[in-house]
Amino acid sequence: EATLGVLGGGQLGRMFVQAAQSLGYTCVVLDPDAASPAGAVAQAHLKADYLDAAALAQLAQRCHAITTEFENVPARALDSLAATRTVAPAGRAVAVCQDRAREKAHFVASGVPCAPYAVLRSTADLAGVSDELLPGILKTARLGYDGKGQRRVTDRTQLALAFQELGGVECVLEQMLPLALELSVLVVRGADGQAVTYPVQQNLHRDGILAVTEVPAPDVPQALQAQARQSAVAIAQGLSYVGVLCVEFFVLKDGRLVVNEMAPRPHNSGHYTMNACDVSQFEMQVRAMTGLPLREPRLHSPVVMLNLLGDLWFTAEGEERTPDWAGVLALPGASLHLYGKAQARVGRKMGHLNLTGATPEAARESARQACALLGLPQQW
Ligand code: ATP
Ligand code: MG
Ligand code: MG
Repeated sequence: EATLGVLGGGQLGRMFVQAAQSLGYTCVVLDPDAASPAGAVAQAHLKADYLDAAALAQLAQRCHAITTEFENVPARALDSLAATRTVAPAGRAVAVCQDRAREKAHFVASGVPCAPYAVLRSTADLAGVSDELLPGILKTARLGYDGKGQRRVTDRTQLALAFQELGGVECVLEQMLPLALELSVLVVRGADGQAVTYPVQQNLHRDGILAVTEVPAPDVPQALQAQARQSAVAIAQGLSYVGVLCVEFFVLKDGRLVVNEMAPRPHNSGHYTMNACDVSQFEMQVRAMTGLPLREPRLHSPVVMLNLLGDLWFTAEGEERTPDWAGVLALPGASLHLYGKAQARVGRKMGHLNLTGATPEAARESARQACALLGLPQQW
């Protein structure tokens, strides 16, 4: 028997652990939070900081291969483990994903178009910003997620103010693009360089947080889907990436495909794979890091994924409530995944609901009914 380690104890770590256990692995989670969702299901939970030398030594000693489930794990922690163990993805690849300036430079180097942008390191750089980047979005280079660490700006006065508000840290200013829709692609690459991709995921965000993913992507032409998958492979190859990588794209109103950002791990928009594909994104992560065979995954059902945020646990008046799970589970094709978080908070990811169907319309019909039962906005 073999043991796998994961840095980070959130829901992505939990679903990774569950997939690894299904394949017979024992799992060790490293996360400082005693109440971490992944720590609760793993065989062992090391409650320590990601840079705690003793904990890292213990993880390396117990595990045959180690991965990460969260984007901002210190790349140094991965590097130190890599001295004696298989670590996937590698610290140097994760470091590129953690820094929007390096990430954008990598997209350019990979020949995949991204939004026109400028890197701002200090207020002195503001004067050099070209007019074509306004209106734009100012994003901190590091540590942003769910739209946090971003400001939309229309002119130079707002830009200067936003740069200050974000703390004067290194930022990337991107031109505001006219979006038709958003999509993402999961690419999985093995240590031998073989890469496979999942079908394109069409995503809808609300308030900067992913709300709905639909596969097959209803509004993306086939040629564009192929282009997105090829671009994701090129981006992974250029990083010598090993593991699951999620690449987010925009489709612009004029039909062009533009890459937005990437996440060095399984991704929220890939949760549909748990019920609609023959191999989930989490099992793929296990396969990639352990050198098990990768093969092209198959989507066996059209699917809609609904993200379940903590908002659902409260009435409009702010009273706590339990969502109508029995009603939801009575719907055709419904698979509920809750992450075991004790405390619901507005905006907090508590779970997701996959609705599969024999046809896209059948999946949508279940999703419509689920939205009505849960009080989510109707999308269709
Ligand atoms: P995530 O939680 O996906 O990691 P994030 O905080 O890293 O989010 P981005 O994905 O960069 O943020 O941006 C959040 C959202 O803002 C995008 O999904 C998109 O809707 C919008 N957005 C970002 N950049 C642009 C742009 N250049 N033009 C238009 N809209 C944009
Ligand atoms: Mg991001
Ligand atoms: Mg994003």
